[in-house]
Amino acid sequence: MRVPPGLTEKDFSQALRQLQEAIGKEWVFSSDEDTDLYRDAYSPFWHEPEEPVASAAVAPDGVEQIQKILRIANDYKIPLWTISTGKNLAYGGAAPLLSGSVVLDLKRMNQILEVNEPNAYALVEPGVSYFDLYRYIQDRALKVWIDPPDPGWGSPIGNSLERGGGRTPMRDHWANHCGMEVVLANGDVVRTGMGALPDAKTWQQYPYGFGPYVDGMFSQSNFGVVTKMGVWLMPQPEAYREITVSVPRHDDLIPFVDTLSYLLNSGITQGTILLDSPLLNYRVAQGGQMLDLPGGPSVAEMERIGRDKNLAYWGCTLHFYGAAKIVDAQWEHTQERFSAIPGATFRDGKSYRFPLQMKEGDGIPRVAFGVPDLSVFGLLQGSSGHIGFSPIIPMSGEAVFESLKVFGQVYAEMNVQPKNQFFALPWSYFPRSFVLLFGFPIEHDVAKNRRTREVFKRLAQAGAEHGWGEYRTHIAFMDTVANTYSFNNHALRRFHETLKDALDPNGVLSPGKSGIWPRRLRREHT
Ligand SMILES: Cc1cc2nc3c(=O)[nH]c(=O)nc-3n(C[C@H](O)[C@H](O)[C@H](O)COP(=O)(O)OP(=O)(O)OC[C@H]3O[C@@H](n4cnc5c(N)ncnc54)[C@H](O)[C@@H]3O)c2cc1C
Repeated sequence: MRVPPGLTEKDFSQALRQLQEAIGKEWVFSSDEDTDLYRDAYSPFWHEPEEPVASAAVAPDGVEQIQKILRIANDYKIPLWTISTGKNLAYGGAAPLLSGSVVLDLKRMNQILEVNEPNAYALVEPGVSYFDLYRYIQDRALKVWIDPPDPGWGSPIGNSLERGGGRTPMRDHWANHCGMEVVLANGDVVRTGMGALPDAKTWQQYPYGFGPYVDGMFSQSNFGVVTKMGVWLMPQPEAYREITVSVPRHDDLIPFVDTLSYLLNSGITQGTILLDSPLLNYRVAQGGQMLDLPGGPSVAEMERIGRDKNLAYWGCTLHFYGAAKIVDAQWEHTQERFSAIPGATFRDGKSYRFPLQMKEGDGIPRVAFGVPDLSVFGLLQGSSGHIGFSPIIPMSGEAVFESLKVFGQVYAEMNVQPKNQFFALPWSYFPRSFVLLFGFPIEHDVAKNRRTREVFKRLAQAGAEHGWGEYRTHIAFMDTVANTYSFNNHALRRFHETLKDALDPNGVLSPGKSGIWPRRLRREHT
């Protein structure tokens, strides 16, 4: 029998009986067969004793049952690990950070409480997936879009709390949440923003309410259990267009990113953009690397290859969503702006009017048009999964050059070949910054995974030394990453710990999440 740390088998059996009485026998899972379903399918600890596993899982049907679970967890000091749909692959899946935790699985709380078309918002519970919300909207022919991440089986609540990203103009999911209901560790139910006003009429329309704005405290955190959240939707646009812009030389990246940044910050181009490099892709296809490894070809050599093969050094596809006339004007203005870079070339891209009729194999990029799907997993065939290293860097050409060099240097020092280079160029998931998404392959090979973990830690450290922090991380690296956010001798961690001790004195909610440990477990972990 797996038991939570610090509990005897006898006490845990007694606690499980109380949990069964509280929420029903069939919703308390404690057999290995059941709890194995909560293992991280992409665990970097495969076949190692350090792989964190749940001792049990509980699936309440609502706030009242959550309160009962919390009462029992507080009595026995049982660590709970909250998940919404538990599809956090690449960052830990449904597995707890602290082995022996009981997973608090909110999948059964799956009501779509409201979708408001004129004001473009929804109010959902944690178990609602992007597929559920999409279907609900389609069934009622509402003219609003959701913004799913690449895999659509996750949840607006789980993904937004992790501050995940999608592809449409609503891609920054945390920025597009509005109002929450949260159960605190002591069972108290708090509504944030306008939700604190009884009978509030604008809970999902105006985020701030009155007084300190506390929503952020519940994202990437272990201060509460979120049971409802508002999600802003996008009015269905009339049209979409795109344009691919390319520039020939290495140093063109600086004006290129400045122009891109201006267009994004002005709202002229929208959605997530991936910086591309036809020339670096060619280097990869020839067995080279995307990152700048010492001893690699010089810039002059690369530019010569570019001229010979007619390959641009840099490029990207920009997206425009909205009224057809405005989209055309944005498309034209984008060309004008990039034309200031000598040698810039343009290729007109896809163009659509909505609503779209979609068919299997039509090549329409579903996620970019608010349609959840799972095709991203098709790209990963033959892999046993990956974990994400995802630092935020400035949105500037200089920062891209530096990051390619700095992370290339780490690989060289550690004498490993980067295998994740397709993600080494940045994405614009969030405003005013780039995020790099390195995907480290996970294998059923202990030695290789150990090496991957070492490389990950060294990359995180090298990033931090250059002022680049991770936006989100796998449960295996939460302490590593939290340690890099160390301004003023870890003042932020002290602040988090002060809040944790006040809100959750028994330390029952998700111990270790984002490097925040409750007092009773702190000494051994930080
Ligand atoms: C191939 C691939 C592509 C991916 N692409 C993307 C992408 O495009 N964008 C992206 O953002 N991610 C992406 N991911 C990462 C991940 O799969 C998604 O972010 C996914 O949506 C997260 O799972 P979930 O929504 O089920 O959240 P959950 O697993 O339910 O929750 C995530 C975490 O949030 C916290 N949490 C969840 N619910 C609550 C709650 N109710 N109260 C308090 N805390 C809570 C917990 O700490 C939990 O571990 C990708 C992963 C893979 C493997």
